[in-house]
Amino acid sequence: LSRLHRTEPSVRSFIHVAEAAAQREAEELDRRIASEGKDALGPLAGVLVGVKDNLCTANMPSTGGSRILEGYQPAYDATAVRLLREAGAIVVGKTNLDEFGMGSTTEGSAFQVTKNPWDDSRVPGGSSGGSASAVSARQCVVSLGSDTGGSVRQPASFCGVVGLKPTYGRVSRFGLMAYASSLDVVGCFGSSVFDTATILSVVSGHDKMDSTSSSQDVPDYASELVSLDSLESKPLNGLRIGIIQETLGEGVDIGVASSIKAAASHLEQLGSVVEEVSLPSFSLGLPAYYILASSEASSNLSRYDGIRYGRQISADDLNELYGESRANGLGHEVKMRILMGTYALSAGYYDAYYKRAQQVRTLVKESFKGALERFDILVSPAAPSAAYKIGEKINDPLAMYAGDIMTVNVNLAGLPALVVPCGFVEGGPAGLPIGLQMIGSPFSEGNLLRVGHIFE
Ligand code: GLN
Repeated sequence: LSRLHRTEPSVRSFIHVAEAAAQREAEELDRRIASEGKDALGPLAGVLVGVKDNLCTANMPSTGGSRILEGYQPAYDATAVRLLREAGAIVVGKTNLDEFGMGSTTEGSAFQVTKNPWDDSRVPGGSSGGSASAVSARQCVVSLGSDTGGSVRQPASFCGVVGLKPTYGRVSRFGLMAYASSLDVVGCFGSSVFDTATILSVVSGHDKMDSTSSSQDVPDYASELVSLDSLESKPLNGLRIGIIQETLGEGVDIGVASSIKAAASHLEQLGSVVEEVSLPSFSLGLPAYYILASSEASSNLSRYDGIRYGRQISADDLNELYGESRANGLGHEVKMRILMGTYALSAGYYDAYYKRAQQVRTLVKESFKGALERFDILVSPAAPSAAYKIGEKINDPLAMYAGDIMTVNVNLAGLPALVVPCGFVEGGPAGLPIGLQMIGSPFSEGNLLRVGHIFE
C-alpha cells in the first residue's frame, strides 16, 4: 500500500483506491491466521489485486471510466471479482480505462490520464491501461482487465508485463459492463507467467449467471508450468510455431519486428520448429471488428438512459432526460461508436456493413482454424509499435484504430492469446518494452502459459 501511495500521484493507475477496505480485509486475514492457522486461508490470501473499473464491485464505485456512471455502486461483485475474493485476494482499487473499454490509450477515461511507468510522457495502452500500469509499477501483484479487441494484450505489451486474453467463455462475463458481448472477455495481468496462470485458474469456470461461459474443466494452470530448473536443453521439442507473415511487414516498427524475430529464434533454440504462415484475411479483421464492436456497443449502451444507474438529473420529460443524460454523461469516442454502430445496423445499410462484417468474421475464424491445424501456436507482435506519446493519437481515430491490427482478429475468432515481454526498443529514459503475442486453439491456455513460462 505504501508503494501504491508513493507511485500513484505520478502514474495514476487507479480511479478509486480502497485503502480502508484493504486494511480491514488484511486485518481479518491476520485474525484468521491466528485462530485457524495459515492453511485455512485461500490460495490468494493477502494478494493485492487491481480490478478494471468496468467490472462491478459491491463495496466500491464502478464507473466504467464514464461520467454517466459517476456515483454508481453496484449491488454485487462481478463473478471474476467474487472468485478472487473467495480465494483470499484483497481488491485494492479500481483501475483506469478508456470509457466503457473503447480506446487504446486510456486517454478516453472521463476522469484522468494514466502514465506509462516506463516513460511518463507516454500512454500505458488501453483500454485496460490502469490494470497494466498498476502491475508494471508494482502497485498491486496482479490485476483484472477486459479484452474486446486487444485491451489486455496491447497494454501488457506497452507496460512490459504479462497479459492473458482467455478463450471466449473461459471466464464469466457476469458483472463486466458489456461493450461488445460476442467479443468481450475478462483477462489477467501479472508480472510473471506464474502469477498470471495462478489467477486465471481462480477466475475461470462455468457460471450460471453467464450462459456463454464454458463448463470445460479448469486446470490448475500454475502447477502445470514446468519448473525451470528441471528443464532439458530443448524443452520445446516437437512444438510447431507459425509466425504470422502479415504481422511483420509494412506499418510495423523495425525495432518491433526485429524483437519478434529474435523471440522466434529463441523459441527455435529451445527446440520448436518455427515457420512463417500466411493468414490472407488478416487485414480484413480490423474494419470488420470496428463495425461489429460498434454495432454491439450501440445496442449494449442503450441501458445508460439516466434512470437505471449512476448520475441522476432532473428533466421535464422522458426524452429530455435521456437526451441530457447521454449528451452530458457520455464522451466523444463513445458517442462516435454509438453513431457508427447504429448506422451499420440500420435497415438500408445492414447488408452492406453488419452482414458483410459477420461474413469476414467467419473468414477470419476459418483461416485461424486452418493455421492452428498446422501449428500449435501462432506468434506476432502485440502491437505494431511501442507505447505512444500522450496526445499522439487521440485526435486521429483512424490511426488509433489501426494500432489494434495485431489483436482484434483473435477476438473475432474467440481464441486465447498470451502476451509476454520479449525485448525493448529505443525510447524513454530506459527503452520501451515490446510484447510477443502467442495465439492458440480454443482452451489451450495451459499450453500458451507453459511455453510463455519457458520463454520468459
Ligand atoms: N481498442 C479497441 C477498441 O477501442 C479494443 C478495446 C478493448 O479491447 N476493449 O475497441
